[in-house]
Amino acid sequence: MSGVPTRDVWDNIAAILRRSVPRQQFDTWFRGMRLVSMEPERVEFSVPNNFLREWILKKYRGILRGAVREVSGGDPEIEILIDNVAGGSGVNAGGERPGAGKIPGRADPVATGTHHATHPPESDVVLNPNYTFDNFVPGPSNNFALAASLAVADSPGRSYNPLFLHGFVGLGKTHLLQGICHRLMSRRPDMRILYLSCETFTNHFVAAVANGELDSFRYRYRHVDVLLIDDIHFLANRDRTQEEFFHTFNTLYNANKQIILSSDSNPAEIPTLEERLVSRFKWGIVSRIDPPVYETRVGIIQRKVDVHGVHFPEEVVRFLGESVSTNIRELEGVVNKVAGMSQIYERPVDMGMAREAVRDLVPRRSVRVTVDSIIRHVSDHYGVRISDLQSKRRTKSIAFPRQVCMFLARRLTSHSLEEIGGYFGGRDHTTVMYAHDKIRRAAEEDGELANTLDRFSAELKT
Ligand code: ADP
Ligand code: MG
Repeated sequence: MSGVPTRDVWDNIAAILRRSVPRQQFDTWFRGMRLVSMEPERVEFSVPNNFLREWILKKYRGILRGAVREVSGGDPEIEILIDNVAGGSGVNAGGERPGAGKIPGRADPVATGTHHATHPPESDVVLNPNYTFDNFVPGPSNNFALAASLAVADSPGRSYNPLFLHGFVGLGKTHLLQGICHRLMSRRPDMRILYLSCETFTNHFVAAVANGELDSFRYRYRHVDVLLIDDIHFLANRDRTQEEFFHTFNTLYNANKQIILSSDSNPAEIPTLEERLVSRFKWGIVSRIDPPVYETRVGIIQRKVDVHGVHFPEEVVRFLGESVSTNIRELEGVVNKVAGMSQIYERPVDMGMAREAVRDLVPRRSVRVTVDSIIRHVSDHYGVRISDLQSKRRTKSIAFPRQVCMFLARRLTSHSLEEIGGYFGGRDHTTVMYAHDKIRRAAEEDGELANTLDRFSAELKT
């Protein structure tokens, strides 16, 4: 065994688990599990949340250990970690971590390790079979993004080019990108489609440079009909990769090939993205996905509930729809958790289960922080007047606390840079971005400032 996690080892462990527990249980508890690392004394797995972790440790530790022994020939310790589901790191080649957002109890070719999963022909990426247009619940927050995605899927290179989707994490960007892939693959099998995460693009590029294989790299990327890159904001700050991407973009664009990108913010707000790319990203259509409104959330819950085949009382659906508002992945997580509880407790779904599932989220989400509350807090702490913080005055004693406000507003609210600037005497987005970077860097050097900022965040959230 090496320290490098391999998919095959997990496949073997999973095969043993499948033999050892009923299918339903495997689907509920092990589908979202990943093998993180493997060493002679210690094997680490990860699962999407603590609820899963605890149940697995309580009920299946022995079985898991047996499977690991059988595969490894040794007797390593077993550790289960929690996936940082909302973050952008730890993503595999597809841009989505295997098992993330999966629905227990549903046949799922991706996770079975067999070969009926679909992937675009030009890509080594496996698509999530659930991320289709049919499974996407429309609403006022995503209608426009959905319509643009459908248009692009129906006439690639001829409707909007590029298509640039942006929005916070967990709002459906990857789902729409993969929806486009699914549709193109079924309707336009002639097309060469390349779908990958920005991280993969970067890794390929770096490897190509190191191995002197730039020609084949360029050939690969510049001879496709449709290029989709997920989470393009990770391109920021990597100069040569950005340069290379710029040329890839130009070549494809000039040949009327379709380019589709997703990001966590709009092009102008991606720090350090070169201006020439910012402007190109706006040539086609830029569409933002907002957090879903209540009715859409209820629609999404209903859809997931149907898939589980477990009945959720209306009261529970309403409660979940009211409790989780900013991240659809989280919403799916609580629905899965409630369905899992009902299976484990062998009782119909009730409000108690719903409250328990939502309670786990509270420490992370809690109170909605407003810019006004940030300004009040900072004004108290530094003994400066609120009106001064919101003025244009540039004296140092005011500029610093004002930058702290902007930093916190960027971190704790969902306002755009422009909106935040509006609270501080109508400053523009570059000022807010500058303030954010400055405070971030200052906190890296100054432990006391870092503590103060942490304390502010904690206080504001309660
Ligand atoms: P992002 O890439 O924006 O972080 P994802 O596309 O991974 O978000 O979506 C997170 C989860 O929410 C996925 O499981 C996805 O299927 C689901 N989801 C997002 N939007 C919708 C929607 N409108 N209808 C149904 N499911 C959705
Ligand atoms: Mg994504």
